[in-house]
Amino acid sequence: MGSTEHHPLHIFFFPFLGHGHMIPTIDMAKLFAEKGVKATVITTPVNAPFISKVVEKAKTSDENSIHIQTIDFPSAQVGLPQGCENTDSIPSVDMFQPFFMATALLQEPFEKLLLDQRPDCVVADIFFPWATDSAAKVGIARLVLHGTSFFSLWAIACVALYDDASSDHSDSPFVIPNFPGEIEVSRTHAGPFMKCKEASTGVLKLVEEARESELRSYGVVVNSFYELEKVYADHYRKVLGRKAWHVGPLSLCNKNSQEQANRGKEASIEEHECMKWLETKQPNSVVYVCFGSNVRLFDSQLRDIAMGLEASGQDFIWVVRKNKHDDGEEWLPDEFEKRMDGKGLIIKGWAPQLLILEHEAIGACVTHCGWNSTLEAVTAGVPMVTWPIASEQFFNEKLVVEVLHIGVPVGSNKWVGFQGDSIAWEAVAKAVKRIMIGEEATEMRNKAKVFSQLAKPAVQEGGSSYSDLNALILELSSLGHYGLHTNVTWKLLYRTISIIS
Ligand code: UDP
Repeated sequence: MGSTEHHPLHIFFFPFLGHGHMIPTIDMAKLFAEKGVKATVITTPVNAPFISKVVEKAKTSDENSIHIQTIDFPSAQVGLPQGCENTDSIPSVDMFQPFFMATALLQEPFEKLLLDQRPDCVVADIFFPWATDSAAKVGIARLVLHGTSFFSLWAIACVALYDDASSDHSDSPFVIPNFPGEIEVSRTHAGPFMKCKEASTGVLKLVEEARESELRSYGVVVNSFYELEKVYADHYRKVLGRKAWHVGPLSLCNKNSQEQANRGKEASIEEHECMKWLETKQPNSVVYVCFGSNVRLFDSQLRDIAMGLEASGQDFIWVVRKNKHDDGEEWLPDEFEKRMDGKGLIIKGWAPQLLILEHEAIGACVTHCGWNSTLEAVTAGVPMVTWPIASEQFFNEKLVVEVLHIGVPVGSNKWVGFQGDSIAWEAVAKAVKRIMIGEEATEMRNKAKVFSQLAKPAVQEGGSSYSDLNALILELSSLGHYGLHTNVTWKLLYRTISIIS
């Protein structure tokens, strides 16, 4: 599959330069490569080793190989420190703007690569809106990788329409228009996804460009599975008229513990040490706390988490990433580590998250609702305390809490920088107890297990994601190099919805 008489289908995968984007894109490249597609991952020199490490673990034969191609990152041109090529290493929040500027400068070298290698298709991150034009210049299809759920894709589209129609610019919650289930959000949840007429700079401009480039792209690849969000997947395709393929959960392509332990960065704890600690615990007795790859909490927030975890009385694994502007160790209450010896494991840095979530001792997790972490928890059958920070995480929270009923909100209400809303320790303790103990907790855990049982068959032969991936490869194989197709039907439907809303 994926090969023509002349040459195998060749796809460029171009993830945004953050682990939350690189991890699922590499998983996707692995999936395509397993089907005989030649997969080339484009990245920058500092990010290449993360990818080559994963590729090494995945390599099984020459046919299945994944190639890596680097282009230089213009850090100096935009005033970033040398080596700052990943969102993970951005020194402060005000440097995000130059970082995004630098990523826009990747267009030219990327186009040189396209001309040089002439792939059949580009799967590029939503944060590279210009990739649609780049692909068009060489007459090939550009697919968008958003890295979020169908639910959030649809909600984001509808929220933009609400803003066009509404004169109410207060922060009172509103029901998302043209969206099932009376889901309420506020402007502070939706952040830059509210359509902004003055979106001429920074993240707002990028969101507008991304929206526009998605409309002109060939379609969208979604890291989700049909059984999790049927209504939203159907609507996204049938009503919004988007061409979309669901191929997830992508994390399931990591079949052995070596692959599961080596995603993203080098773990800050030995795999066996972590597993040994979990082996000493009863099933469903440990809560796993992690805020993804970008969130940097202030000392005061970390202290509230520490006090909340202690007051909950639950065993925990807590992955800590501190805000660089706070120094010192006062983020932990006096003698916390001594009191928590054997009860809590703190990982300062990077955790082997997939391995941890899949362990039977894990009873729940506290998450910032990044889509990868959310889907990984669903896949492992782990219910969640939801603590959204930024991005589309507030929408993902709605899916988990109000639609799937497998989560308890901690009460995070505002998109504030990269550290989020401050939550009092009492609220942390209450939410952790609610997700871990009692009848409601058991009910949510059982529901989460049902979704987990649906997730795994989805990627197996005959499953919904397996079939969609095959259908996508077939379609791409039949296209070859083709003139760019603008999705006219989608545009008409989008306009119709705008008029009737
Ligand atoms: N992750 C991990 N170890 C960590 C933190 C994160 O393996 O200590 C992985 C996690 O499994 C997920 C990704 O990093 O695949 C984070 O993606 P997500 O969408 O959840 O959040 P983001 O980092 O994009 O905010």
